[in-house]
Amino acid sequence: MILSGWGRTTAQDCRVSRPRSEAELAARVAEGGLIARGAGRAYGDAAQSAANTVDMGGFRRMIAFDEATGQLVAEAGVTLDEVIATFLPRGWFPAVTPGTRFVTLGGAVAADVHGKNHHRDGSFGATVDWIDLMGPDGRVRRVVPGEALFGWTVGGMGLTGVILRVALRLKAVETGYIRQRTLPAPHLAAAMATFEANADATYSVAWIDCLARGPSLGRSLVLLGEHATLAELPQDARARPFHPPAPKRRLVPFEAPGFLLNGLTVRAFNEVYWRAGLAGLGERLVGWAPYFYPLDAVEGWNRIYGRRGFVQFQCALPLAVAAGALEALLREISAAGQGSFLAVLKRFGPQAGAFSFPMEGYTLALDFPLHAGTAALLDRLDRIVVTAGGRFYLAKDARMSRAVFEAAEPRAAAFRGFRAAEGLAGAFGSTQSERLGL
Ligand SMILES: Cc1cc2nc3c(=O)[nH]c(=O)nc-3n(C[C@H](O)[C@H](O)[C@H](O)COP(=O)(O)OP(=O)(O)OC[C@H]3O[C@@H](n4cnc5c(N)ncnc54)[C@H](O)[C@@H]3O)c2cc1C
Repeated sequence: MILSGWGRTTAQDCRVSRPRSEAELAARVAEGGLIARGAGRAYGDAAQSAANTVDMGGFRRMIAFDEATGQLVAEAGVTLDEVIATFLPRGWFPAVTPGTRFVTLGGAVAADVHGKNHHRDGSFGATVDWIDLMGPDGRVRRVVPGEALFGWTVGGMGLTGVILRVALRLKAVETGYIRQRTLPAPHLAAAMATFEANADATYSVAWIDCLARGPSLGRSLVLLGEHATLAELPQDARARPFHPPAPKRRLVPFEAPGFLLNGLTVRAFNEVYWRAGLAGLGERLVGWAPYFYPLDAVEGWNRIYGRRGFVQFQCALPLAVAAGALEALLREISAAGQGSFLAVLKRFGPQAGAFSFPMEGYTLALDFPLHAGTAALLDRLDRIVVTAGGRFYLAKDARMSRAVFEAAEPRAAAFRGFRAAEGLAGAFGSTQSERLGL
């Protein structure tokens, strides 16, 4: 089967199986070189192995739920979309969620995904009580926080074994609405100051116009969010507090021609977005779906970049040097005029898992449609991040070189050592882990 990541740049002919039982899965593990694949929302080649890709779609049962603690036990192929559909009407929501709900629990653990509340609540692994993991010998072990195997599995990109079941704590909510406050920031320094001044907000994220220049470099709309209480809903919404009006789902019906997205159209879009944002400043109630998952409303949006696909660039930068490094990145991007519609800026709290992406500081993420000059631009961005002591998000990576990875990841040697010592290196591997020498 031809597999690719969400960015559609890593097409590869892979042998794919879909085991239906632990015994079938163990037989696949015995063959070696295996990588588990969830919903395929990682942007690059993290969930591909030419010889042995296992589609976890055969493991998607929810097993138990404890109303007293909010602990859900479910198989790794269950998606956050399914969790929300089942539990939001009962007053529970994922405690940490990425910007799409079409990810599996296995994928969320393996990438240790982060949400808009990382600065307060940490990443996905912080909500996990235990994991059932199939190891290289086909045996299933329950691993808990504090164990080395747990630490490397959370953020370990499927390279420590196959996650079979996850026990995760959901968060109690009174409604499905978010109280959203939009604050304008005319430049980067103002955006960062807004994050620091609102460190107690549950959710915060900024949409940056990455093509703005000069004194407007880094101009952003900072969106803060809190789960709305029942008392905060208008009277007519209180009867169905968990069912805000659903956004219309749209479909991208065809691959857009590459020329549709150029510097001019993106600049024009960003200008319109900025002005619309300024018009909608202040506080308003929005439904959970448009707040957490604006892109999920456009089915197949990854096709707007045309046949050649796109790559995402996401880095984390240490707090002490983040301002200078972000400015350098935005200067390169705006000068090249190649960025996507919007870049996302987010304040991170401290690192948790042994190999997790977040570090105390800031993260910047944006898409680049593939053009002639894109590779050279990305190399320049890589250098800025490495010089600043930052790192890159493996769930978004599709093209990093081994040299850049080594320079950015002093933790790689320890991970390699752990994989060798536990007999994991031959059993589990992806196209990405081969490319990066993991
Ligand atoms: C629109 C969009 C927005 C996003 N926003 C965010 C965001 O805000 N924050 C964030 O952190 N991420 C974000 N992501 C990335 C996404 O959350 C991660 O890539 C996530 O890992 C995808 O989960 P998946 O089920 O699709 O896994 P896949 O893409 O299929 O796999 C991802 C990794 O998980 C491993 N894996 C999957 N299942 C298992 C298993 N059962 N056992 C062991 N390993 C497994 C794979 O081997 C691979 O290494 C976004 C992605 C998209 C497309």
